Amino acid sequence: MSSEGDPRAEYAELLRAVAARVEMELGFGIEDGRLPLPPLPATEAAPPQANRPAPPPSPPQQARPARPTPPTVTPPPVHRAAVTPPPTVTAVATESKVDIFEAKNYDIEFPEGLSKQGQLDYFAKAIANCTLCPLHAGRRQVVFGVGNPDADLMFVGEAPGHDEDVQGEPFVGKAGQLLTRIIEAMGFKRSDVYIGNVNKCRPPNNRAPVPEEMDACRPFLLRQIDIIQPKVICLLGATAVRGLLQSKEGITQIRGRFLRWRGILVMPTFHPAYLLRNPAEKRTVWEDVQKVRDVVLGKLVV
Ligand code: URA
Repeated sequence: MSSEGDPRAEYAELLRAVAARVEMELGFGIEDGRLPLPPLPATEAAPPQANRPAPPPSPPQQARPARPTPPTVTPPPVHRAAVTPPPTVTAVATESKVDIFEAKNYDIEFPEGLSKQGQLDYFAKAIANCTLCPLHAGRRQVVFGVGNPDADLMFVGEAPGHDEDVQGEPFVGKAGQLLTRIIEAMGFKRSDVYIGNVNKCRPPNNRAPVPEEMDACRPFLLRQIDIIQPKVICLLGATAVRGLLQSKEGITQIRGRFLRWRGILVMPTFHPAYLLRNPAEKRTVWEDVQKVRDVVLGKLVV
């Protein structure tokens, strides 16, 4: 028997969709689930008719039915890729004479015929001993980037913190674990996307990189983007916006809208570390990344 037109089947389908959304939001850490109100029945929405007495005034807002508190769920364990020690330098002089202010002219010759992954690997080795800016003095290692070289979606953060400096992989600390949950709530895996930073060396005491440090490292980020050619870049926080777009606009003003940058759609949103301090803004980021997901999946054209 076909379930088409069977109200129980439609109801079950609706429940499954609601459960999937609640599960996704909880996974992301949004616990104030706000499901859209069902549309008002047509009779309530219809304008009063001229020859009928006006209906009694309705209360200002449709009362929401009380929703039971969702059960707390333990987020799924984060599976981290095994971190291999950084390769030794083969392609670039370890003592660069390039002045940090001329860093944008700094270039790397890539051998012909490398795959995207091959180019990224070659590139990572080439800059593993970079000394273009003062951050090299305090780093354990250059944190190059991680993920799918063919990714349609790239996330760009600020700079490695302590955990990233130790493990050699971006976004593996607390903020990184939240980013992983965000990616999974979007319906992707961490390994589907590419994750990088404006600066590839850890600033002391986790301070934000200064403009000269960003200038020194920007050519590397641009080259990474050139290799990966993502469809969408999600910029995480004000420093990422400043570092890539060189825009001074505040993140609160610029977030939530797609920008086109060199033919790529860019969505600035809040940094996950900010969300750890301001969990109420998770909802805002969730709205932003749903747009990102829809563009990546071709469901939204901007
Ligand atoms: N914050 C960032 O911006 N990047 C990281 O890799 C980790 C934390």
